[in-house]
Parts: sequence; C-alpha cells; structure tokens
Amino acid sequence: MRAGTKPKKRTPSRPPAKKRGVKPPHSKGPAKGATPERVRAILAKLDEAYPAASCELHHDNPFQLLISTILSAQCTDERVNQVTATLFPKYPAPKDFAYANPRELEKEIRPTGFFRNKTKSIIGASKRIVEEFGGKVPQTMDELLTLPGVARKTANVVLGTAFGIASGVVVDTHVQRLSGRLDLTRNEDPKKIEQDLMQAIPQDRWILFSHQLIWHGRRVCNARKPRCAECNLEKLCYSKDKLV
Ligand code: SF4
Repeated sequence: MRAGTKPKKRTPSRPPAKKRGVKPPHSKGPAKGATPERVRAILAKLDEAYPAASCELHHDNPFQLLISTILSAQCTDERVNQVTATLFPKYPAPKDFAYANPRELEKEIRPTGFFRNKTKSIIGASKRIVEEFGGKVPQTMDELLTLPGVARKTANVVLGTAFGIASGVVVDTHVQRLSGRLDLTRNEDPKKIEQDLMQAIPQDRWILFSHQLIWHGRRVCNARKPRCAECNLEKLCYSKDKLV
C-alpha cells in the first residue's frame, strides 16, 4: 500500500448459504408426499401390482446389459431387443465392440436412433473395459462413470440389475414422471430426483422400486393418457394429471 493511501474497508465475507439457513437456489425442498407412512403405502401397492418387476432389456451378462442400456436412450426396450438379437452374436465379447468398424456398427444400431453418438459410446466404453478393467464391467459407481457414454442412470441399471448392488435409484423418463405425479419429489432434474428418492425410499428397495415404477409407467401411468381408473395407486395419488 502506498503511503497516504487510505486502507480499503473490507466487507466481512458472508458465511456459506447452508450456515445462514438459506436453501441452495435450485432446491425445491422435500416433497410433502414423501412421508415414511405414505411411501410405505405406495411400496405396498407397487408390490401388489408388480411383485416380480425386472429389467426388460434382454441380456446374458453385465456387459450386454451395459450395451443395451446405452442403446436404450431415447428408444424403446422392444426396439433395442430386436437390434441386440443380431448384434450380440456378431460381437460376443467387449474386445469385439472395442475394435469394431465404426461405420459398420453405426449401420447395425441405426434403428435405435442417435446411432453416431451411441457408436462412439459403445466403442469407447468397450475399449476402456478391455484396456483398463481387464475385460470386465466394473462394479462401482465411480468406475462406471469413467466409461464414455455412461452417466448415473446407466450405471445404476448395470449395478442394480447385473450385480444386485443398490448404489442409487434409476431415474429414467418413467421414474421422473411418476415420482413427480406421486409427489415423491418436486424436482425436475434427474440427479436431484434421484437424491430425493434415495432419501425417501429404503435402500433395500431401490432396485425393485425403479423397476416397478418403470413397469407402472409403461403399463398404466402413461405420459399422455394415464389409465387412472385401472390404477391401484389411485387413492394415494393427488396429481393434477389424474384423469378420474
Ligand atoms: S392415479 Fe393416474 S396419475 Fe396417479 S399414479 Fe395412477 S395412473 Fe398415474
């Protein structure tokens, strides 16, 4: 500081928002419907309707499930199953996808949409599995997230369905819509929805719960025309989308 210059008055730094009792700007807070009692009632109804809900993507091992899940983005499981019926026999191991001809693979997976990006993800993820993980699909969230094209949704599908590891809740379009309609979350961002569901649902139910919600979304609680008259959750549901 130069002689004669007045020292600047320093404003004391504010404590972090959390300490001031201020919510992060984007948090909508817990959903009112996520009380333990109501969650128990919802889970009981889901068990009644879908006691054996499971993943509908055909696969014989964790690697095939990973590939199918990458292909299922913006595509139906039925279409993915049609494509993988010929794809998996042609590329039986991770090394076959890792060093595949990208142009050829693009053509083969074209019916699933976004085929250029999906080809990059499949080849990139397979290469990493071969070169970094000894040809085996890793079994932790952190490791799975290092694979190209793999985000939390895909990682949760693989961990839950292939390995029985409940690391989180799969939040796909159905889980996103239904957890909102059932007032288990007020958030719209999948990461925040997952956090809300992980708080509301007991961990030993995370895997089955996401399968059940996906089944309910496909069979009853459709996006445009939910079949509320046939829904066994109707008494517990006060969504504005209800059609009864
Ligand atoms: S009552 Fe209707 S909106 Fe509510 S969960 Fe059932 S189908 Fe969906």
